[in-house]
Amino acid sequence: MTTTIKPTSRNQQLFERSQKLIPGGVNSPVRAFKSVGGTPIFFKRGQGAWLWDEDDKSYIDYIGSWGPMVLGHAHPEVIAAVREVAGNSLSFGAPTARELEMAETITTLVPSMEQVRLVSSGTEATMSAIRVARGFTGRNKILKFEGCYHGHADALLVKAGSGLLTLGTPSSAGVPAEVAAHTLTLPYNDIAALETLFAEIGDQIACVIVEPVVGNMNLVAPVPGFLESMRAQCTKHGAVLIFDEVMTGFRVALGGAQAYYNIKPDMTTLGKVIGGGLPVGAFGGRADIMQCLAPVGPVYQAGTLSGNPVAVAAGLATLKLVQAPGFYEKLSATTKALMDGLKQAAHQHGIPFSAQSIGGMFGIYFSEQVPTSFDEVMATDKEAFNQFFHSMLDAGIYLGPSAFEAGFVSAAHGADELAGTIEAASQAFSALRK
Ligand code: PMP
Repeated sequence: MTTTIKPTSRNQQLFERSQKLIPGGVNSPVRAFKSVGGTPIFFKRGQGAWLWDEDDKSYIDYIGSWGPMVLGHAHPEVIAAVREVAGNSLSFGAPTARELEMAETITTLVPSMEQVRLVSSGTEATMSAIRVARGFTGRNKILKFEGCYHGHADALLVKAGSGLLTLGTPSSAGVPAEVAAHTLTLPYNDIAALETLFAEIGDQIACVIVEPVVGNMNLVAPVPGFLESMRAQCTKHGAVLIFDEVMTGFRVALGGAQAYYNIKPDMTTLGKVIGGGLPVGAFGGRADIMQCLAPVGPVYQAGTLSGNPVAVAAGLATLKLVQAPGFYEKLSATTKALMDGLKQAAHQHGIPFSAQSIGGMFGIYFSEQVPTSFDEVMATDKEAFNQFFHSMLDAGIYLGPSAFEAGFVSAAHGADELAGTIEAASQAFSALRK
């Protein structure tokens, strides 16, 4: 009897080779399938809502590079802008007219950002914003919320302590306890805890940094009053309110979550969409705060490739297209229709499941109710998600490889993609029951 040996896929081969040279085989941990198991997919091409892997299998993409690809992949106008600008040199390390155009676009569309500085990643944006807030206030303590991710700067890699005033404990090796000690954490959406903390030590807090809609513990929306209370406390105690809109900026609405909820932060960080898929981040806010930055003020911050012409060209082309009338209405409607379809399919198969979307961002949860806190997200059925994820992946639907990540829809997703996704989900839910 002969046995057929299944040929190893090119994808599998690439992963095996990568693991020898790149820790975990990936250049960012979230890309590994650590929580769902299996082999990460190596992609070679994308077009609109679709991706193709190294084995030529196609997928409908619901990650969108973790947010930037709001227009879908390889949008012709974005690619044309990149091609045109690339021919004139890739970098000058000197000012360009396009950077000014980007600053004008951002400050017009996000009016709380009176002044802005460009960087090359979301991590740089949040790290720099915090430095400015500390320089401006002369205070050291910062407040963040459990389950919010703000990039991988030392002071932000801190998990929540259980007590209100628990000193931060680093959640990564390599972060000195002294650095983390200035980072306070509170549960997201806990208004009473926020008010108590401010009553006790409000005058020591340099800034509060928050994802106004959290996309880094699956999707968690702010409960009514949470952002409002934060705004009021920061004003009362002279702390700088930083909205980290790296993910939500130009994703939940044209003016970001601050427009969606009508709250004006003192500072905002951006990334992802404003680079259209190339590395761009930005931080900005009140002019009096931003004037603390070198070369005008005493807070140092710099970058060799900051405002890179090619990256800015991709971002500008993207920001031009998202300003088309009705862009966000359509994106929101598509995303909501997908959620409705998934909920209905789960319901038909008797699976405890809930879902929500805000603009082009969504959360799906294996729980009866939409979670509103870190603890509730953690209590969702992770095993059910993992099984669902792999059924969907087999069917060519590419979701985030973790029950604790938000999903993303692009303007290129249409009726066909939605129908295909809901059909695949129906099969996946049906398999889940067995
Ligand atoms: N802030 C938020 C809200 C994010 O979602 C991310 C990345 N997912 C970052 C900051 C860090 O951005 P980057 O990965 O570009 O450094």
